[in-house]
Amino acid sequence: MSMVKAKKYLGQHFLTDRNIARKISLCLEAKDYSNVLEIGPGTGILTAYLLERGFENFKVIEIDNEAVEYLRAEYRSLDIIEGDFLQLDMDSTFDDRLGIIGNFPYNISSQIFFKVLEYRDKVSELTCMLQKEVADRLVSGPGSKVYGILSVLLQAYYDIELLFNVPAGVFSPPPKVQSAVIRLKRREEELVYYDEKLFFKVVKITFNQRRKIIKNSLKPLVDTSGLDNMILKKRPEQLGIDDFIELTRLVETILNRNNISKKNSHGQDN
Ligand code: SAH
Repeated sequence: MSMVKAKKYLGQHFLTDRNIARKISLCLEAKDYSNVLEIGPGTGILTAYLLERGFENFKVIEIDNEAVEYLRAEYRSLDIIEGDFLQLDMDSTFDDRLGIIGNFPYNISSQIFFKVLEYRDKVSELTCMLQKEVADRLVSGPGSKVYGILSVLLQAYYDIELLFNVPAGVFSPPPKVQSAVIRLKRREEELVYYDEKLFFKVVKITFNQRRKIIKNSLKPLVDTSGLDNMILKKRPEQLGIDDFIELTRLVETILNRNNISKKNSHGQDN
């Protein structure tokens, strides 16, 4: 392990406790898919246990070439992608659904989740270690101060469980924060139709001004004056996933109506 020098800018904190590594590796359920990707194997403490599970198609992606060299020497048959997970084209890398696991580089954990959301129809499961503070945010609900964009977007598609906490002392070097392991499992059913692109937009635009009532923060997108819907008078942190979906459908209806009337008035002009 001392072979690879920990680099702060890559968020490297190597786990030193093998029991915890084993425990994390077993948290990936891998029920309905045979592709598994580990993000940031580092010196391979999780990787060794993941290899033991004998997944049909197991790959790791690591950005640090020093770690890659170490892994190549240590695990000869390991399928290593040398590169940045945030740049990875998952469609050409995996032809079917996959599970992702990793002890995340904490400095990019939010970006990793946005990337997973982008590929939400491909990523069936995600088990990861991350800052406890972020884990708490992801599982929080309406009314909580830490409830935010990623909580809503991820919970709309995934069931999220906080599995256990991990103290800073079992890493080298120890991070400044406590850690936690969470598991996200993709929900199959899409009960109602809604414009998903617009849903992302509505969640982001409202939470970017979390103190404002929805009606006001939506103004750049749509004019809701004259509408008397309770949701419009609330703040984003008061809305559950279903409320956000209802809000999206409301916005969609208004946008469609505006488009139609625009078309009609053009028709009259001509
Ligand atoms: N899994 C190891 C290392 C965790 S530290 C352990 O538990 O000990 C996080 C790892 O992610 C480091 O190895 C770091 O080099 C790697 N990493 C950082 N940014 C990355 C990125 N954008 N893509 C892939 N790997 C990355």
